[in-house]
Amino acid sequence: MLVIDSLQKRYPNSDVALKGVSLELRAGEVVGLIGPSGAGKSTLIRCVNRLVTPTAGRIALDGVDLAHVSGRGLRRARRQIGMIFQEYALVERLTVMENLLSGRLGYTGFWKSWARRFDGNDIARAFELLDRVGLAGMENKRADALSGGQRQRVGIARALMQQPRLLLVDEPTASLDPKTSRQVMRLIMELCAERGLAAIVNIHDVVLATQYLPRIVGLKSGEIVYDGPASGMDAVV
Ligand code: ADP
Ligand code: ADP
Repeated sequence: MLVIDSLQKRYPNSDVALKGVSLELRAGEVVGLIGPSGAGKSTLIRCVNRLVTPTAGRIALDGVDLAHVSGRGLRRARRQIGMIFQEYALVERLTVMENLLSGRLGYTGFWKSWARRFDGNDIARAFELLDRVGLAGMENKRADALSGGQRQRVGIARALMQQPRLLLVDEPTASLDPKTSRQVMRLIMELCAERGLAAIVNIHDVVLATQYLPRIVGLKSGEIVYDGPASGMDAVV
């Protein structure tokens, strides 16, 4: 469903961040992206949701070329993509329910038009997702009253609100303690399996990665140095 072909990214006044990365994901396939700081992991994820525009190469999501699409086509493509972030990216002063209904990060004009952006189906889906991520009854709590693990559960539920086919997950456990990290990884893996979601999980914790992610892609200095089962990775890292 996702084909990344010879992807290159050079930032202005900076080293080349991606030097021709090729990667394919089947529907429902989850891959862990590991590598040292500066390897290009965030850049790769940001190219897929087009927070960053690639310098060269192709990214096709169900045949739509994400590297070149813009305007309406880009908005339509992004609806297929859910994002989960290290620092949760919740609106702190809003409730859990408001965060779920407010849509993705980067949306501006929230106060003006948010009421027009959802309907009864969205509210029903929000309750269903809160229940699924273990936050039943928490809908009226403010985000800033939650623990880190609870915030990430809200972040996960929010990413699933628009029923994406692909999840981009950027360091989901980097701000969490080890026990909560394992719970969050387990939840993400279960949800992907239940809903047939493909995912790219950018994760620097190699132990956690090999524990939960069947397929690992190793990135180093903007190049793929490993792509295979977690068990075969010892030789590389
Ligand atoms: P990682 O997520 O693996 O730590 P990044 O994708 O953040 O790696 O960074 C890859 C390379 O691109 C690094 O050399 C970094 O300094 C550079 N880089 C990342 N973002 C920018 C940016 N906005 N402008 C310039 N260079 C950047
Ligand atoms: P990470 O390593 O988790 O990707 P960083 O702390 O390196 O994150 O980067 C934080 C922010 O700074 C990101 O938005 C990234 O794009 C930007 N950035 C990273 N490296 C550079 C750089 N060399 N020049 C400009 N911006 C950068």
